[in-house]
Amino acid sequence: MYKKDNNDECLICFKKKQLSANLLEFFIMEDILCYECRSKFKINKVIKDYNGLEIESFYEYNDFFKEILIQYKELCDEALAPLFVYPYRRYLCKKYEGYILANVPSRLNKLNNRGFNHVTKMFEGLKMQHVDLFINTSKHDQKQKSSISRRLIDQYIKRTTVNLARDSKILLIDDVLTTGSSIDACYQLIKKEYSEIKGVVLAIMPIKEREKNNDW
Ligand SMILES: [Zn+2]
Repeated sequence: MYKKDNNDECLICFKKKQLSANLLEFFIMEDILCYECRSKFKINKVIKDYNGLEIESFYEYNDFFKEILIQYKELCDEALAPLFVYPYRRYLCKKYEGYILANVPSRLNKLNNRGFNHVTKMFEGLKMQHVDLFINTSKHDQKQKSSISRRLIDQYIKRTTVNLARDSKILLIDDVLTTGSSIDACYQLIKKEYSEIKGVVLAIMPIKEREKNNDW
């Protein structure tokens, strides 16, 4: 669980949170963002089945989500890490109680450049056990993401030597689901190892956005 937040400034706009809230919002508010910033995120709670893996997602991939994600990931504004999962922290802790978190892995050189694992940090407020079951050994940006073949992804995503009890429950986590091939590659690598595996992502990227994305 998150510690109760003692900072009265919004993590995004730095305004005093109370200033943008009306009286009712003020009383029901318990957030690390001001009401105005939070309401720019559009909720789109979806549960979909991807090749047998149940994946849950929470946000619409709108311009605001994209902008804040870039500020966090690419401009390395680490302070923004908790805001995505924050409204769902109790829900997630309860629904996935006993699960162990495992990231869909980012490329190693991307992780090194960034200096922090952005997916790990987004979910760390849940205080759930977390293991690195996978690494992504690809060295270069894949300029045309849409053309990356499933075979190529399978070739780059490897299982680490971490071993867990066979009755472990695994929750595969990622920030954004693009084609779904990466999370599926992870799932295929462990589906015979563990009896219960589910996936949680923050948003699903619309098809029209995929062409422009090269963050695999
Ligand atoms: Zn704000």
